[in-house]
Amino acid sequence: MGFARRALNPTYGAVLPMIAPPFEFDHERIPARATGVIVIDLNQIRANWRALADMVAPAECAAVVKADAYGLGAAHIIPALVSEGCRTFFVATADEADQARRLAPQAVIYVLDGSLDSAFLASIDARPVLSDEWELGTWSTRCQVSGQRLPAALQIETGLNRRGMAPERLDGALTNVEFTLVMSHLACADDPAHPMNRQQLDAFNTARALLPPAPASLAASDGLMLGKVYHFEMVRPGYALYGGQAVGAARAPVEPVVRAYARILQISDVQPGQVVGYSATWTARMPSRIATIAAGYADGVFRHASGSDGRPGGVVAMSGKLCPIVGRVSMDLVTVDVSGCADAVACWDSPNGWVELIGPNITIEQVGARAGSIGYEVLTRLGRRFHRIYLGERA
Ligand SMILES: *Cc1c(COP(=O)(O)O)cnc(C)c1O
Repeated sequence: MGFARRALNPTYGAVLPMIAPPFEFDHERIPARATGVIVIDLNQIRANWRALADMVAPAECAAVVKADAYGLGAAHIIPALVSEGCRTFFVATADEADQARRLAPQAVIYVLDGSLDSAFLASIDARPVLSDEWELGTWSTRCQVSGQRLPAALQIETGLNRRGMAPERLDGALTNVEFTLVMSHLACADDPAHPMNRQQLDAFNTARALLPPAPASLAASDGLMLGKVYHFEMVRPGYALYGGQAVGAARAPVEPVVRAYARILQISDVQPGQVVGYSATWTARMPSRIATIAAGYADGVFRHASGSDGRPGGVVAMSGKLCPIVGRVSMDLVTVDVSGCADAVACWDSPNGWVELIGPNITIEQVGARAGSIGYEVLTRLGRRFHRIYLGERA
């Protein structure tokens, strides 16, 4: 049985539930056609960077803004961080460096994926993170061509075995590259008790002793919570700036910055024995009220968050109550059992006809954990079609 929606026009003036300070809504208007809304609080991102910078001082706090600032919008976030005093940015690719350079003309920009197209990187004054002999060679050649010692970072292998070179393999190429940073990356920093943290710290210090002196950086978001000895001259958080918390580590002094909401499109009642969704993977055991929500895997709701008979999936919050996803997540839609939410129909049939996907009731870490993933992936995949609202934007 379906419920008829009353004379509601879900239009301008719609109100998102649970928007309270510091997510003050400032009379932002949500277009009638928006199926989902993402609210990103630039003031909180600034505050997170400031809190980390204060914590690690006198070490410098850079900002990792790769993958469009973890999906949250580098075009908004880089200027916000520049205005807060951030001077150094890390991106992954040359295209990202290009965008960062336009947004932050004075900043130092490091490119984690190395020296692909070194002529281009040199032309925008971006610094590659050199992690193998080929990369070192291309940048060294670029230095010869330009007749200058061009700045770059050197990434040392200390145990992650992903990117980085063994220090003893460096040769004379060192002499014409200007290393402004020596760095490495921790494998297990989210677990403070893991022996690899110490081992990598020791390996990093040993390697540095073999190299010409340069500022050093080892810690990202989780590593900087391991204590002063991990800070060196620079820390490079990404996730923590966006409110992320390591699961096993000490709580970082940061708060969430993102909320996501999607419209309730329909509410229907199903009888025991009826199924919901593709492949009929969920069967009602009792009379159940099902809400169909305008968000699917194309909006970043993981298909792995589907809830089937015997295997719980993700949740959304309706009127502050957690409601389980039932049946397969499809491309544009997700079905949710709202039987436990007494005011589900009233909620749908009001300007508050939204459910929370991420927000005060559901953290990005919880969304990730319920779908066999992590908060990082939740952020980077979220809501490409959703309407975005940036709070705290400065002209
Ligand atoms: C992505 C990345 C970071 C940032 O990591 P977070 O855990 O998001 O803080 C830092 N350094 C390197 C080399 C990275 O790849």
